[in-house]
Amino acid sequence: MTEAIHTRCCIAGGGPAGMVLGFLLARRGVDVVVLEKHGNFLRDFRGDTIHPSTLEIMHELGILEDFLKRPHQEIRELEAQIGKESAPIADFTHLPTHCKFVALMPQWDFLDFIKEHASRDPTFHAEMNAEVTDVVEESGGVVGLRVKTPEGELEIRAELTIGADGRHSVVRDRAKLHVIDLGAPMDVMWMRLSRRPTDPAQTFGHVDRGKFLVLLNRESYWQCAFVIPKGKAEEIRQQGIELFREQIAALEPGWLTAWENCAIGRTSVY
Ligand SMILES: Cc1cc2nc3c(=O)[nH]c(=O)nc-3n(C[C@H](O)[C@H](O)[C@H](O)COP(=O)(O)OP(=O)(O)OC[C@H]3O[C@@H](n4cnc5c(N)ncnc54)[C@H](O)[C@@H]3O)c2cc1C
Repeated sequence: MTEAIHTRCCIAGGGPAGMVLGFLLARRGVDVVVLEKHGNFLRDFRGDTIHPSTLEIMHELGILEDFLKRPHQEIRELEAQIGKESAPIADFTHLPTHCKFVALMPQWDFLDFIKEHASRDPTFHAEMNAEVTDVVEESGGVVGLRVKTPEGELEIRAELTIGADGRHSVVRDRAKLHVIDLGAPMDVMWMRLSRRPTDPAQTFGHVDRGKFLVLLNRESYWQCAFVIPKGKAEEIRQQGIELFREQIAALEPGWLTAWENCAIGRTSVY
């Protein structure tokens, strides 16, 4: 038996887009159900920078003070090393916003925070471990979603159905929507490297002839982003870690040596 639920808006995906939208609609009294296929928000290397414009929106929503009580780091200035020269490339302290900094906070903490605030509204409902498998169609239009949960199948009917289920969106696929390729020429390799007490304190960008490395100071470790040509990740993997390390070493000043706990991931940039 498939259980059927009626709501005004159902959202597939509890990432930043789905959770924040659910929060905003619930604040306006719209009955909303957010469906997230995972049981929690734990993802490594996701969206750790929260920019001053986003922090300003939190101020407008009245949740900024609470947000800043959560563990985070603040970047007020960015420095880049271009070849052998160092130069400041960003100074957030002049911004006309309440927070004159970029906040660093793991995406799962940010999403927990939004969910916690949204859940104070009785019109907000978040279903975790709820995987959207299909859209419900009627008279040529989408009228809801089919969902798989540990307790069984659900059919959610809604006046508005939203697909915020990320880059491999099931909703987009089943609703036969087309992807617009923006032609971004790069991907990013992400690494986490140990940070030693003697390492510099600031956040860095290293630039040299077609190469770009960003080092984010996360106190106990460096979160590193190395820009690579689009679609080259597999080739780099096959060339092996030593060659990869050599490319990084050619860019940084030599103190970034703690490769023993290195974990590497990849972001596709659309
Ligand atoms: C390595 C990396 C680093 C990044 N760094 C930054 C950064 O520093 N700052 C920044 O602002 N942005 C950053 N981004 C980008 C940011 O993470 C994305 O823009 C953002 O996560 C997109 O949000 P979204 O809600 O659209 O999609 P997603 O975050 O992909 O969320 C989609 C959600 O839908 C869920 N889902 C998928 N399929 C289903 C299904 N069938 N049923 C139910 N749920 C489903 C997924 O589990 C996921 O929780 C980074 C991204 C990556 C990958």
